[in-house]
Amino acid sequence: MSSIECIVLDFDGTFTRVDEEAAPFVEAFRTGIAEHLSPERAARWDDAAKLVQADPDRYGWEYEGVIVAPSHADPYIRCTTIGQLLLAEEGHSPGRRTEILQGLYKHAYPLSRTVFRPDAKMVVEALVASGLPLFVVSNSATEHVRAKIDALDPIGKSAIRVRGDARKFVIHEPEKPHSLFTSLPETMELPGLGRPIHLRRGFYFEALRKIWDETGAGPETTMVCGDIFELDLAMPARLGARVHLVARPETPEYERRAVRGMPGGSASQDLGGLLLQLELPG
Ligand SMILES: [Mg+2]
Repeated sequence: MSSIECIVLDFDGTFTRVDEEAAPFVEAFRTGIAEHLSPERAARWDDAAKLVQADPDRYGWEYEGVIVAPSHADPYIRCTTIGQLLLAEEGHSPGRRTEILQGLYKHAYPLSRTVFRPDAKMVVEALVASGLPLFVVSNSATEHVRAKIDALDPIGKSAIRVRGDARKFVIHEPEKPHSLFTSLPETMELPGLGRPIHLRRGFYFEALRKIWDETGAGPETTMVCGDIFELDLAMPARLGARVHLVARPETPEYERRAVRGMPGGSASQDLGGLLLQLELPG
């Protein structure tokens, strides 16, 4: 695809199977939270999980009072959302709920594993071989992403430029006004989702702007690939970038439909679908 001059990738969930990575986390989190709940309430975990899963309009990752990512974004968010619900039912105060959830998160997170999608290495190697500037923009810390890339060990891994702590979840005005950002509306509607999606994610924008300054590319010549429409793709798509959604089993149909309905947008179940979009051999 000759019109693409730059590739921006999300990492967790996009290159990895985040649900498998987080399985030990989920187990430790559930065991831990039971200590703060009556046995009857603790036994309601699966029911609460279904409730949260079935209603992305109502439940999600709340940041400063607005939902900024759906609860299915990853198992960490899902556990926190379910935990919040059960602790509230149990009568714990908001402050105490945060304290318990943060403690559980800290205890359980180090137990997470690294599990790559089966085609991760092949795809990264094909992207590197294309010679296009290749960036990973992730909410995770740069060292954390780098360590995982080292574990994957693809040929040409030094060509991958990692930008961590992207804070894609923060709705924020950038320090310096920028005409592209100014053009962004506050929110967009996604058919199938009852709540609006917030677009003015200033920290994520800054990360992309720096990449465009560095490469000379712009939104319309950039391919952005991620596993969560709201977090990874909604803003870049609105800025004019091409977007590719790498779906997970629980990605709702309305996310796939939304990207497929966008000019140049696409979705696939495996990461290799990105190579097809870029017309690269895999
Ligand atoms: Mg992700």
